[in-house]
Amino acid sequence: MSSQTRREFLRNAAVGAVGWGVGASGLSGAEDLGQPARAGKLEERNVLPGMRYHRLGRTNMAVSALSAGVTKAPVLLAALEKGVNFVHTASGYNNVPDVAQVAAKHRDRMFIAIKVGPVEEYLAALRVDYVDVLFLSRMGPEDARDSRGRHRENFERMKQQGKVRFFGLTIHHDDLVGTTRAAVESDTWDIIMPQYQPQLRAQLDPILAKARQKGIGVLAMKTLVNVPRGATDQEQAIIRTAMASGHLDSVIISLPSFEAMNRYVEAATTPLKAQDDALLRMAIAGMKGRQCGSCGRCSACPQGVQIAEILRCKDYYAGQMGDMTFAQAAYRELAESQRATNCADCGRCEGVCPEGLPIRRMLQQARTLLA
Ligand code: SF4
Ligand code: SF4
Repeated sequence: MSSQTRREFLRNAAVGAVGWGVGASGLSGAEDLGQPARAGKLEERNVLPGMRYHRLGRTNMAVSALSAGVTKAPVLLAALEKGVNFVHTASGYNNVPDVAQVAAKHRDRMFIAIKVGPVEEYLAALRVDYVDVLFLSRMGPEDARDSRGRHRENFERMKQQGKVRFFGLTIHHDDLVGTTRAAVESDTWDIIMPQYQPQLRAQLDPILAKARQKGIGVLAMKTLVNVPRGATDQEQAIIRTAMASGHLDSVIISLPSFEAMNRYVEAATTPLKAQDDALLRMAIAGMKGRQCGSCGRCSACPQGVQIAEILRCKDYYAGQMGDMTFAQAAYRELAESQRATNCADCGRCEGVCPEGLPIRRMLQQARTLLA
C-alpha cells in the first residue's frame, strides 16, 4: 500500500462502497441498515480486517458486529486484536478493573460504555477522562418514553461536563416489547440495547427497524440466553441470524474464554449458513416449556415481584453463564420489594405463563441461590 496509510485505505474503501458503513475491501462487508438523517463522519476505532462494522445510529461510531460484555482482561485484549471495539462494563459486572487494565494502553481502540451509577466513580475506577456511552436500565415503558425529558436533561448536563458522550437504555423489563417501543418513540436515547431472544424477534424487529430509521443505534444483548450450555452450533446460528436480521448494529455478549470469543467473532462476521434456520428453530423449541421466554405476561404480579428478571439471574447468569457473583449482583440490584421474598404465593403468574413454568418453585430456588 504505497500512497495511502492502511487506515486511510480502509476508510476510503468503506465509504466508497456503501456510503456509510465500514466494510468492503479488506473487511467482511456491511449491510445497509438505513442511514440516519444528516449522518456525520464515521468515527473509527480499531478497525481491522476480518471484522464487520456498522454505524451506530446518530452517534456515528463505527461499532464492531461483536461487542464485549463481561470478560477478563486477557480475553478483552484478544478480542481487540480481532477488531472488537465496544465494551460494556458496570460495577456489578466485576469487570471494571479488567477494562481499566486494557484501557490503560488501548483507550483509543475502544468505545467504553458504562451502566448507570456515579459517573465520577466509574471514571476514577476505569482511569479514563470520559466514557462513550452511559446506559440507564431497569425502566418500564413509562420511564423509557421520558415524556418530560428529565432523563435527557440530566444527561445533557453530564455531556456538557465532557464526561459522557452518548446516552443509552438497556431493556430487559418484563414488558420488553412495550418498553422497546416506548424507547424508540422517545427522543431521549441515542442507543438502545434490548434483550434480543430468538422467540421475541418477530415482535421486536419492526420496532428496531423504526429505531434505525430514527438514527437510534441498536445493540442486542442476551441473544444467547437460555441456549443449552455446549450447544455451540445453536449459539452461532443465533448470532448469524441476529446480525442478518438487518436491525442490529452489534450483538453484545459476555466472553468467558478465548475459545468462546473466537466462536462468537466468527459467527458475527460470517454470512448465514444453510442450516441456520433449522438450528434457530431447534434452539427455540429447546427453550419451550423449560425456560422463561420473557413474554412479559406475568409482569402484573400484584406484589411487584420482577419474575422474568429473577429467573434471568437464576437460569442465565448463574446457570448458563456459571457466574454466581454476577448473578447475585444482578439480583441485588432489584429493590427488596421486587425480589422473590416478596412473592405471596397467589399463583396468578403460573396461570398466565405460556411456558407453563412452575414459577413459584423457581422463585423459591432463586431465593435460596441468590439471596
Ligand atoms: S405467585 Fe408470587 S410472583 Fe406469582 S403473581 Fe403471585 S405473588 Fe407474584
Ligand atoms: S409469563 Fe412465563 S415466559 Fe412469560 S415472562 Fe413470565 S415467566 Fe417468563
